[in-house]
Amino acid sequence: MSAPIRIALAKGRLYDDAVARFARAGIVIDPAPGRRLLIPSSDPAVEFLVVKPSDVAVYVESGAADLGVTGTDVLRESDADVLEPLELGFGACRLVVASPADHPFPALPGGKTARVATKYPNLAWRHFAQAGRPVEIITVQGSVEVAPLLGLAHWIVDLVDTGNTLRANGLAERETILQVGAVLAANRASQKLKLEQHLQIMARLG
Ligand code: AMP
Repeated sequence: MSAPIRIALAKGRLYDDAVARFARAGIVIDPAPGRRLLIPSSDPAVEFLVVKPSDVAVYVESGAADLGVTGTDVLRESDADVLEPLELGFGACRLVVASPADHPFPALPGGKTARVATKYPNLAWRHFAQAGRPVEIITVQGSVEVAPLLGLAHWIVDLVDTGNTLRANGLAERETILQVGAVLAANRASQKLKLEQHLQIMARLG
């Protein structure tokens, strides 16, 4: 038998939905993998690995994984050269610019250059550059919403789902940069070399 198709799943918010989607397709990930990082499934032709969302792009682009499930936010941020053959219909949210609700936007006192805190420096930079608006980007890895409260930044660029986190931190959504959702990402060479297996998995997931 040929080597199993290897699928990288993103840890975090998308994980449970991804596992459920594969289970509905008849591919059940081993629920008790112990310390194994390559996790077998009920289908001997499919194995999984579970990595950080942004690493899914790295594994799939390099071919270390044939397929992956992650959000379009991290794929666009890393500009990963992967195919995206299937939108999976979960993980919907949006990448937005937000700023303190009780301050005017976008004008800052004294015409200051806005500092923008984000986990998405490339997407944020591109958004403001395309609009011809100079900003200073500050890259942080989490808890972005607290940055304006603490004076680290004037604005943030972050993912929003319900908007509860923004509201709870006194922030208002100002501009939408990207509609985000979970997709199946595929390595280009793998899709050519293992086309039949790719098509079968997509048909079962679709
Ligand atoms: P919410 O309060 O529902 O708007 O959720 C906002 C918080 O959840 C922010 O900290 C986001 O970074 C995070 N978040 C929302 N949607 C997603 C998603 N699809 N994937 C990862 N993080 C998300």
